[in-house]
Amino acid sequence: MGSTKYVFVTGGVTSSLGKGIVSASLGRLLQARGYKVTIQKLDPYINVDPGTLNPYEHGECYVTDDGAETDLDLGHYERFLDIQTSQANNVTTGRIYQSVINKERRGDYLGKTVQVIPHITDEIKRRITLLGEKDEYDIIITEIGGTVGDIESLPYIEAVRQLRWELGVENTVFVHLTLVPYLSASGELKTKPTQHSVKVLLESGIQPDVLVLRAEHELDKDLRKKVALFCNVELEAVIQSIDVSTIYEVPLLMKEEGLDVMVLKKLQIEPKESPDLKEWKKFVDRLKSSKKEITIALVGKYVELYDSYKSIIESLTHAGAMNKVKVKVDCIHSEEISVDNVSEKLEGYDGILVAPGFGDRGVEGKIISVTYARENKVPFFGICLGLQCAIIEFARNVLGYEDAHSTEMMNNTRYPVIDLMEEQKGVTKKGGTMRLGGYACSLQKGSLVQQAYQTEMVRERHRHRYEFNNDFLETFREHGMVPTGINPESGLVEIMEQPGHPWFVGTQFHPEYRSTALNPHPLFIAFIKAAIKNSK
Ligand code: GLN
Repeated sequence: MGSTKYVFVTGGVTSSLGKGIVSASLGRLLQARGYKVTIQKLDPYINVDPGTLNPYEHGECYVTDDGAETDLDLGHYERFLDIQTSQANNVTTGRIYQSVINKERRGDYLGKTVQVIPHITDEIKRRITLLGEKDEYDIIITEIGGTVGDIESLPYIEAVRQLRWELGVENTVFVHLTLVPYLSASGELKTKPTQHSVKVLLESGIQPDVLVLRAEHELDKDLRKKVALFCNVELEAVIQSIDVSTIYEVPLLMKEEGLDVMVLKKLQIEPKESPDLKEWKKFVDRLKSSKKEITIALVGKYVELYDSYKSIIESLTHAGAMNKVKVKVDCIHSEEISVDNVSEKLEGYDGILVAPGFGDRGVEGKIISVTYARENKVPFFGICLGLQCAIIEFARNVLGYEDAHSTEMMNNTRYPVIDLMEEQKGVTKKGGTMRLGGYACSLQKGSLVQQAYQTEMVRERHRHRYEFNNDFLETFREHGMVPTGINPESGLVEIMEQPGHPWFVGTQFHPEYRSTALNPHPLFIAFIKAAIKNSK
């Protein structure tokens, strides 16, 4: 197809309209037509990456294989498109400014006054087009975070306005997502917020080509005509995005609405064959038609915000569909779990998952949950801090090391079963300094994990500073907690299991970053299988 074309997605009226899901759905549709597609996210905040953000702020931090800590929307992109994203797929204002300031300090601007326009906007444009440089993609979707009209979004809007001029109208399309609220008192859908939001874009010199209207009720022809007329778009370019029971239905809805056809038309591409969504439909059908339900307790400390454990919850959903069961996930606050109430809190669950995390808040509740899972033979999955808690639990309650702990929580423990990695010891800076991204892991033959993966070498993504302290390895092995996944280069323990327990697996890496709708993660599939077996 020659040079790469760009779809710019903006949002208006309010945040949380599901821009990420609409972008990912559009990506899936274009990909299903045979185009090579990727998606990038521009985030208007000053943090260089979301790695230093508390999950309460923006939900989970997603990690790419190349070790970038990114916005959780990249997780949606990977789960919908079954592609790998990278550092280049997520850019924040902080990163943009950091590069510009570094260039200024090096003297690259030769004494010029460094300004938002052109220097910041040039750097934004450079980052946007970076992905297209190698001609790897036919179409790149660029999602601009935030809401138009926000002060911090302005440089991004200006940058994409300029890009349209530079790349040509035939190579760029603007998709704008807004909200059509329903006023129940008068029983009406209101278009005024959409009109205003388009006006705000027009003030910045951008006329959207396609409008995606988020609504709780069907938009009739008259309403669509009104929006088309007042917002200056084609009638067929007014697309409705109505609430659905699962996000995975959105691509199917967008296909019905013709979003992909309209985008291709604007990009002056003659649509190749119609999208092949057979596998996708099969997945959605399974998701919706599964009757049997199993329940998983997700023990964590950021449970007030569902987005904090986004990838884990999605991975459980994918694995549920694969196993033809509905998975109900109950998030349980680890701070509220004590020895006295643990049976009450965790009784009846078909599986227990102890979540990743940082710091000592809620750790004891996690450790108590592990004891419950181990003693009651409930399928257990520990991820990152979840594995570390399982190791501490085993040390204290099976090996009798009373004050065993991670040095993250207790520096002077006599039994530092989890300790800072050697390469982390001199690190004082916070951002981007953990063990991040994909590492190889070799699996022990015949172990639960090897049976699940059906292979002996895997690559999984990490995000942590601490690790199992190998000084204790032999004692653990002798007493029934065995390493079944080892990093072949460093010898670090990546997975532990407890043979004799129906399904007890802890991983130092985060398998949830690799589960996609059409390729559910083997460990989640196996965990759900064990939970089904355990369910009465
Ligand atoms: N806090 C732990 C560490 O840094 C675990 C991190 C995590 O769960 N992602 O090693």
